[in-house]
Amino acid sequence: MASRGRSDDGSPALTYDVAIVGAGVVGAAIARELGQYDLACVLVEAADDVGTGTSKANTAILHTGFDATPGTLEARLVRRGHALLLEHGPRLGIPIERVGALLVAWTDEQDAALAGIAAKAAENGYAATRRVERDELYRLEPHLGAGAVAALAVPDEHIICPFTTPLALATEAVANGVALRLGAAVERVAQADGAHVLETSAGSVVARWVVNAAGLHADTIDRLFGHDRFTVTPRRGELIVFDKLARPLVRHTILPVPTATTKGVLVAPTVFGNVVLGPTAEDVPDRAATGTTAEGLASLLGKGRRILPELVREEVTATYVGLRAATEHTDYQIAFHADQRYACAGGIRSTGLTASMAIAKHVAQGLRDAGLVLRRRDAFREIRMPNIGEAFPRPYQEPARVAAHPDYGCIVCHCERVTRGEILDAARAPIPARTLDGLRRRTRAAFGRCQGFYCLAEVTRLLAGATGETPARLLRTP
Ligand SMILES: Cc1cc2nc3c(=O)[nH]c(=O)nc-3n(C[C@H](O)[C@H](O)[C@H](O)COP(=O)(O)OP(=O)(O)OC[C@H]3O[C@@H](n4cnc5c(N)ncnc54)[C@H](O)[C@@H]3O)c2cc1C
Repeated sequence: MASRGRSDDGSPALTYDVAIVGAGVVGAAIARELGQYDLACVLVEAADDVGTGTSKANTAILHTGFDATPGTLEARLVRRGHALLLEHGPRLGIPIERVGALLVAWTDEQDAALAGIAAKAAENGYAATRRVERDELYRLEPHLGAGAVAALAVPDEHIICPFTTPLALATEAVANGVALRLGAAVERVAQADGAHVLETSAGSVVARWVVNAAGLHADTIDRLFGHDRFTVTPRRGELIVFDKLARPLVRHTILPVPTATTKGVLVAPTVFGNVVLGPTAEDVPDRAATGTTAEGLASLLGKGRRILPELVREEVTATYVGLRAATEHTDYQIAFHADQRYACAGGIRSTGLTASMAIAKHVAQGLRDAGLVLRRRDAFREIRMPNIGEAFPRPYQEPARVAAHPDYGCIVCHCERVTRGEILDAARAPIPARTLDGLRRRTRAAFGRCQGFYCLAEVTRLLAGATGETPARLLRTP
């Protein structure tokens, strides 16, 4: 357990047992996992909220891992992570839907590859794929573009909420005593009294063990510990979100036959009732290159036109970019250093949302093997996040709830049907929304068709009132 020690300036400071750097979905999952043990842990995050890095900008597929490279750590952890999120996600209130995927072959050559992909899936422990002939394919997906030859059905591919997942994991960690330090970017690491002193942009954090889950910056943190095992080269993925009117056009996630370098561009429903097209895959030098490009969007529309011609005629709600933490290696970079009391969970490339809970278990086991004593706490407090997915009742659809608390009947964001009650709850949650972006990820407010054109003033006023922030500060762009 935590003890009193000295910080670098000599003042008394809490010495944590474990500091986890980075509150993306991976760091949040690790914090939640360690929160089950009799340890004092702290989750240290540079940004002002949980899940603002790669974890907020992905394709939001809960992968089966059918197409992973057999034998890799990634293949194993994706498979296990899929099962863990299906087990814990519903209890945590994470919106998850089993839509299944169809991996569509558009050429005879791609058709010939389907059997090999099915065999690879079986090697990865996933035997439920099945070949779908052309006629059945068009019955299953009547709006599919002309010219498809056949498909491989992957029935256990799900869609998941990328925003609720890190928030739920971090909230359950905090509910079980894990401290959360937001706005604290780790800049240097020193040693004092047998502990690591993480010097952050907001003061020191002292911990006996450190877990690096810093996503795009995991290599930088790794180098602070003297290692030089990988370099992150961000792989930019641009995506287009289509209006909810497009949702009836597609029933499954439509995947392309992957190439050696990319899983390719897919069309998928979202748990919010939209349709997403993407992502592109382009290596970029800048770890902050989160702007879309004309070329990227044009290339997506070209591919989308072939996959689902009617989709590209629908209106676009939003576009966004995510940066995968690609490295020179083809597997996750997870390593343990007992001598340093340090673990690195880096290089979590394009599957980390799915694998997050399995990565957390793997890291906990690695820390145990490295000498960290893990004793289960007697009690573990479970939490449940407010539902923001379309497949389950939203508050405005629950008469008893509205009758008990009329704020849940007062819709503020009409595109996404977000109520005053949900906005106030988000502002008072254990990890509260402190920004409009944070509020969007917790409630969907200002996230829809009008992107806040009609509701932003009222949404801002409510958030400002509940948090004590001024509307002007909330509306400033970072
Ligand atoms: C386009 C795209 C599509 C994807 N699609 C899918 C998908 O469908 N399914 C799936 O499973 N996965 C998908 N992924 C992958 C998934 O999103 C990532 O693997 C996952 O989000 C990585 O989580 P993370 O916690 O490692 O990183 P991040 O979410 O980036 O979190 C790292 C955190 O560390 C913080 N940090 C960095 N440096 C410091 C520091 N010095 N001090 C303190 N904090 C620091 C950052 O602020 C950040 O919050 C996709 C990714 C992309 C880009």
